[in-house]
Amino acid sequence: MSLLPALPPGRVLDVVRAPDPVLGVPCAEVDPGDAAVVQLAADLLATQAVSPGCVGLAANQVGVAWRLFSVDVSAHPKTRTSHGSFVLVNPRLVDASRNEKGREGCLSVPDLTGDVKRATRVVVEGYAPVTGALLRLETDAFEARALQHELDHVDGALFLDRVAGAHAIFPRRTYL
Ligand SMILES: [Zn+2]
Repeated sequence: MSLLPALPPGRVLDVVRAPDPVLGVPCAEVDPGDAAVVQLAADLLATQAVSPGCVGLAANQVGVAWRLFSVDVSAHPKTRTSHGSFVLVNPRLVDASRNEKGREGCLSVPDLTGDVKRATRVVVEGYAPVTGALLRLETDAFEARALQHELDHVDGALFLDRVAGAHAIFPRRTYL
């Protein structure tokens, strides 16, 4: 069953890059049923879909400091559990366990990757756009990592804020 309600056609937006200040502010909670929020949800999915290797996109990565993001890890080889393509509005981390280090990249930091310790099992709650239905996602592995990366974005943090130090940051060699 898809977690994603029917949305209007999405527009492809420009992605903001570090050190743009909008990436460093905690995003504001919004009404999942608001027409502008619904449109932005569609735009995030459209922008994510045309960005090679992109498994998630937060609203402030397209310049809007609202608390929502899109995720779709279904095509990634490191994925175990996947909830398909979805958007969470006003998301929050409810539970997290079993930390593991893994390599991350980000559309807003296109030239670098980094090793970040993240929980491999998480429970995340948020609201569906349009309906405002409460969604509770229990997941693991790569989807858990993607969710924590996007939660960081809407809290105003980047993966670079989470790495153990300069030795854990690497130039990106390939663009998927
Ligand atoms: Zn990112």
